[in-house]
Amino acid sequence: MADNVMKLYPGNWLYNAGVIGFLYSLEKVEKIPYEDVANFNDDGSVEIKKDIFEKLKVRERYFSEEKEKISSIVGKSNLYRNYLQEVWKNKFPDYVKKLSKIEEKDDTIPCGLCYRKIHLSDDDIKELENLGLKKFLEGISKFDMRHLSTLGPSMGEFPNGFWNNSKTFRVCPLCAYLIIHHHLSLVELSDKSKIFVNAPSFKVMWHLNRYVKEIYEREKIEVIRELLGMSIIELTLKLHIQLGKWTMMNVEVVSQYREGDNDKIEFFSLPYETILLLLDGNIARLINDIGEINVLNLVLDGKYREILDYGERVFKIGLKNKNDWGKHEKEFINKKIKMDKNKANLISFSQKLFKLYALIEEKIGKGVYV
Ligand SMILES: [Zn+2]
Repeated sequence: MADNVMKLYPGNWLYNAGVIGFLYSLEKVEKIPYEDVANFNDDGSVEIKKDIFEKLKVRERYFSEEKEKISSIVGKSNLYRNYLQEVWKNKFPDYVKKLSKIEEKDDTIPCGLCYRKIHLSDDDIKELENLGLKKFLEGISKFDMRHLSTLGPSMGEFPNGFWNNSKTFRVCPLCAYLIIHHHLSLVELSDKSKIFVNAPSFKVMWHLNRYVKEIYEREKIEVIRELLGMSIIELTLKLHIQLGKWTMMNVEVVSQYREGDNDKIEFFSLPYETILLLLDGNIARLINDIGEINVLNLVLDGKYREILDYGERVFKIGLKNKNDWGKHEKEFINKKIKMDKNKANLISFSQKLFKLYALIEEKIGKGVYV
């Protein structure tokens, strides 16, 4: 680890969401563009300049006069319930500043979130303890299962070695700080569920989660797989990055929701074949140009043959004079097609559907999926 930079690798989704949430907060709260602080690498890692922790306006950020922002940063999650007690609040900025001096040392127990041996020097720890932060440091350095009702099934992702019988694992000083930002990267849907797009690349997560948020706000789409599908299309169209197959195969949506008194977590992913199609520039552009959610759904469902059938039906109706349309034909066009530009030019719309089918067929191999 270079002295002034730390390199973070993607880990479990909670940690990933913490890193992404922290970068969001830099932009939103500190007005620092992420490029000034973070550098995304194509191997999935992100390098963060350590001196950022000295520059953060921690006091204004978390403890504004009129309203204590810590509640919004720390959130209402059980995970952080005891994170900051009244007595520690004043000293919290001192702790954050010290993060600019974190190091890796071999004889440290690995962190259960980032798997790294990151720690503060003995002198720095002593200094913080003298400020009255001993209990605080002890508290945040342990991740306790009792606080993890929210994580439920995802705990399977954590290596068993960190559990032992105590069901507690060590959290390094950096992760203890990053993790309180995790909820900032979640997108809340109208049913109160919260979603995060997880991937083995911070670059992919940074962009996909932003697209999900933008698309959700713009189109009010609630269906997770449609949101994910559209976000991947956006990624293909806007970012010309070389994405490893392995990276995209492992893109998943983590969805948190309440059921009764319990927090539940579900994971959703698209089949690799679907992702492969959405990452194809021509296919992505065409689906985007068509702009019909039911066409996107045919792709997401793998019902490619139906795209052809749909195109043929539209084409046949398009050939007729509008006055000669029967009741069923009128209904079909009005119900199925949402975009005015497609309704106004059925022949052109049908040609796009034929082309989409042909591109898909070309991509996945003729005859296999029809
Ligand atoms: Zn860590």
